[in-house]
Amino acid sequence: MDNCMDDKSALLIVDLQNDFCPGGALGVSGGDEIVAVINRAIAHCISRRLPVIASRDWHPSKTTHFREFGGLWPPHCIRGTDGAEFHPELRLPENVIVVSKGTDETHDDYSAFHARDSQGRRLAEILSSLGVSRLYICGLATDYCVKETVLEAARHHIDITVFTDAVRGVDLNPGDSAKALAEMESSGAHFAEVLNLLE
Ligand SMILES: [Zn+2]
Repeated sequence: MDNCMDDKSALLIVDLQNDFCPGGALGVSGGDEIVAVINRAIAHCISRRLPVIASRDWHPSKTTHFREFGGLWPPHCIRGTDGAEFHPELRLPENVIVVSKGTDETHDDYSAFHARDSQGRRLAEILSSLGVSRLYICGLATDYCVKETVLEAARHHIDITVFTDAVRGVDLNPGDSAKALAEMESSGAHFAEVLNLLE
């Protein structure tokens, strides 16, 4: 298990947005408990000058992703609303790279590899331009966006490590998160804990 991120590494924080935290439109139990842990991972990256990328769900108000229009979910993370903002205690660095997904009216876009930055670049393109081949992932939710991102990383030949103490799951069906972690492990993902990172 790594206790330090090397210079080919970046941190990806998945969807740490108000609507996915307790009290939000689609609150994940304990979603806010991982903010302090993630802040520690961010500090680790800042001290090593490693890139920090934050993905966000950035939906239009009408999308087939929402129950009302045939999808699975109540409305959440509608762009421009408070629910779509990052958790207020998340200490993102000034040079954070924000990538947005779910911006189309017909796509769920669970994977952060579908997200684009303000210049329209997709995540894989951003990583390659930064010379990043190892992604450390944390955020919400284990059984949806984190899982889909991890499974897609293998297709882009990105080595991936899940910070297991900095993710939380929806568990729509009991055990979904545990199942998701097992799937990630079989896809080749490594597991580590932020609390074991060297300062
Ligand atoms: Zn969504």
